[in-house]
Amino acid sequence: MLMNNHDYLKRLLSVGLVCLTVLMVLVGCEKGQLSSALVIDAKTGKQIYTLQLDIWYDPNAVLSVYHADIRVDEEYIGTVEQGFRFTESLKLDEGAHWLQFNKHGDPSVCGKTMVKMKEDVILTCSLKGYLSEMEVADKKITPLHPEPATAAESVTEAVTLPPEETQESTALEKEATASDESSQSPERRYILNTNTHRFHNPDCQSVKKMKDKNKQEFYGTREAAMDEGYQPCSQCNP
Ligand SMILES: [Zn+2]
Repeated sequence: MLMNNHDYLKRLLSVGLVCLTVLMVLVGCEKGQLSSALVIDAKTGKQIYTLQLDIWYDPNAVLSVYHADIRVDEEYIGTVEQGFRFTESLKLDEGAHWLQFNKHGDPSVCGKTMVKMKEDVILTCSLKGYLSEMEVADKKITPLHPEPATAAESVTEAVTLPPEETQESTALEKEATASDESSQSPERRYILNTNTHRFHNPDCQSVKKMKDKNKQEFYGTREAAMDEGYQPCSQCNP
């Protein structure tokens, strides 16, 4: 009876070990894949994606001659003039985000549209400003993927490069990295918006309007904030 129990325990233990090993291998693989492609927000635990904005403000001179302020989840991103194009790259959490457009300095004249982030995308649309509203026209969302043909070309290029040239370019890259490090800005206090992934000077107007749950203090260099996946605010230029 004692012997049987011992055998049973041994078998149980070995089955347990096999399961644990399989689990560790699986987790290991997953982690390897994660680190190469995915960026996870440390605070929310959500995947971060890139939203490339390409907005054209249609001239509509008869009715209005104003600029349009662009906000993402109520944070100011920039201003676009009629007849001009606005392009900007944003880092956003997965899920739904609101893009709001309003008459410069007048939030009562506005329009908005929602973008659901589940991959890197380009939002192309045109704005039309009227006396009482801002219309978002021709909204188009397309995936932002590197073209496979370009990737194949660059691989071929890398393979056919003579060894000296490869070494030279590596040296140049090292030099560039070194000079980047030497030109780093001083450490100071910034305010992060963990939702729109922008960082601000503490006295920026956007900071005052920011929701508390999206606000986070950061102490470090400008480059360190950017390494964390944050982009400088276009209003206060931190
Ligand atoms: Zn700012």
